[in-house]
Amino acid sequence: MRIYNTLNARKEELRPLEPGKVKMYVCGPTVYNLIHIGNARPMIVFDTFRRYLEYKGYEVTYVSNFTDVDDKIINKAIEEGVDSSVISERYIAECLKDMEGMNVKPATYAPRATEEIDGMIDMIQTLIDKGYAYEADGTVYFRTRMFQGYGKLSKKNLDDMQSGHRDIKVTGEEHKEDPSDFVLWKPKKEGEPSWPSPWSDGRPGWHIECSVMSKKYLGTTIDIHAGGEDLVFPHHENEIAQSEAANGETFAKYWMHNAFLNINGSKMSKSAGNFFTVRDIAEKYDLQVLRFFMLSAHYRSPLNFSDELMESAKNGLERIKNAAEKLDYMEQNAENRSFDFDEGEDREFGAEYLKKFEEAMDDDCNTADAIAAVFELVRSINVTMTDSSSTALAERAEEVLKTMCGVLGIDLERKEEALDFEIEQMIAERQEARKEKDFARADKLRDKLLAMGIVLEDTREGVKWHRK
Ligand code: AMP
Ligand code: ZN
Repeated sequence: MRIYNTLNARKEELRPLEPGKVKMYVCGPTVYNLIHIGNARPMIVFDTFRRYLEYKGYEVTYVSNFTDVDDKIINKAIEEGVDSSVISERYIAECLKDMEGMNVKPATYAPRATEEIDGMIDMIQTLIDKGYAYEADGTVYFRTRMFQGYGKLSKKNLDDMQSGHRDIKVTGEEHKEDPSDFVLWKPKKEGEPSWPSPWSDGRPGWHIECSVMSKKYLGTTIDIHAGGEDLVFPHHENEIAQSEAANGETFAKYWMHNAFLNINGSKMSKSAGNFFTVRDIAEKYDLQVLRFFMLSAHYRSPLNFSDELMESAKNGLERIKNAAEKLDYMEQNAENRSFDFDEGEDREFGAEYLKKFEEAMDDDCNTADAIAAVFELVRSINVTMTDSSSTALAERAEEVLKTMCGVLGIDLERKEEALDFEIEQMIAERQEARKEKDFARADKLRDKLLAMGIVLEDTREGVKWHRK
C-alpha cells in the first residue's frame, strides 16, 4: 500500500514500525461550536483509511484528540457567562453525535488536552533542560533556531521566514529571542482557565498538546500523523520540533494531509454566510450522504460542496442501496440454493471489481476510484442477476458489495424515511397529549419518533425537529 507522505513529498510504501500494527494520530477539532463540514472531511477520510488498514489485517491504534482549551472556547464562555469547560463539554458531546451520524468509528483513544496538562509541563521542562526552550516573564518559548530540522515538513526556511516576519512580535511576546519562536506555555489572563506550573499559573500552547498526547498514547515514534493541510505549518512543523527535540527520536514516519473543502467555489466563511455545520446538513440529508459525498473525491484534491453534488451523492448512494435490496430480495425468494453453472454463474463473481477497489485504495487511499469500482459492481449486479439466479450468487455478490461499503463506512441498511407531514402529524398528536396532560402518551410518541431517527427539541418558539 502506498501513501503520500508530505514529509518527503512523494508516495511511499507503507512500512509500519512494527509489522501488522499501525499507530496513527489525527488532530481533532477545537470544541467551541458545532463542527462544520470542513472539519468533517479529515474525520471521514482518515476514518476510511483506518477502516481499510483494518480490512487489510492491520491492528490500528487510532488517536484523535479534542482541543478543549483555546481562545475561541474562552471567548464563547465569557459571552455565555459560563465556565469554559461547560462550552467544551457541550461541543464534545455534540461532535460525538455528528461523528456517529457520519459513521466515524470511535477512536481507540480520544484524549482531551485539559486532562493531559502534567505531561505537557514535563515535556516543556525537558525542552528547557535541553536548551530548546526558555522562559521569560511566565511565558515559555521554543527556540526554533536550536532545532536543526525546523522547516522540514513545510519546506520553509527560517531565514526566508524571518524577512517576512520582522514586526510579528505581538503584545505580550516582547521577550521572544527570535520572531519565529513559538509559545509552549503562557500565563493566564483574568478569568481564563489555568493550571499551576513552575513558570506561571497558565495554560499550554496548542502545539505542545498534540506532541504530548501522541507520545502518551502511541509512544515517541508513531507511524502516521494526519490532519488538514492548513495544519502543516505551523502546527505540525512545531509538533515535530518539540517532540524530536524532547525525545531525540523521529516523531512520525508518515504525514498525511487532506485538502480543503470549499463551498460553491469559495472558502468557507461564517461572515460571508458561506458556512454549514454538519448539523445543518443533517436537517436535509442522512449524514451517510455527506460521508459518501466526501469520499467521492481523492482526499488530497480540493473538494467543492454544492447542492448539486450532494444530490448526485444522494442518487449514487440510492443506486447502491437499491442493488443491495435487490440482492436481499433474491436471497429470500430465489429457488436455486447453489450456483447454477449452466447459467454461467461465477463463484468468484465481483472479484475483478474488488481487485480494482483494492488497487484504488492501495494507491494513496483513492476513494474516488474505489467508488467507481463499487458502481461497476452495482452495474454488473443489475445486469447479471435475474429472477432465475441462485441464492448462492446473490450471497456472493452481497458479500463483495458489503465488503467494499464496509471499508467506505457506508451502511447499506435502509432507514425507513418518514415523510415530513407524517412527522408533523405525530408531533401535533404529542402536543395534544401534552395539553391533555397525558404525558405517558406524549413520551411514547417522542420515543417512537426517535426510533424513526427524528429528534425533537422543545424550544420557546415551539417544537423543532431534525433527522438524526
Ligand atoms: P480546527 O478545529 O480548526 O482545529 O480543525 C479541525 C480539523 O479540521 C483540522 O484537521 C483542520 O485542518 C480541518 N479543517 C478545518 N477546516 C477545513 C476545511 N474547510 N476543509 C478541510 N478540512 C478542514
Ligand atoms: Zn494537532
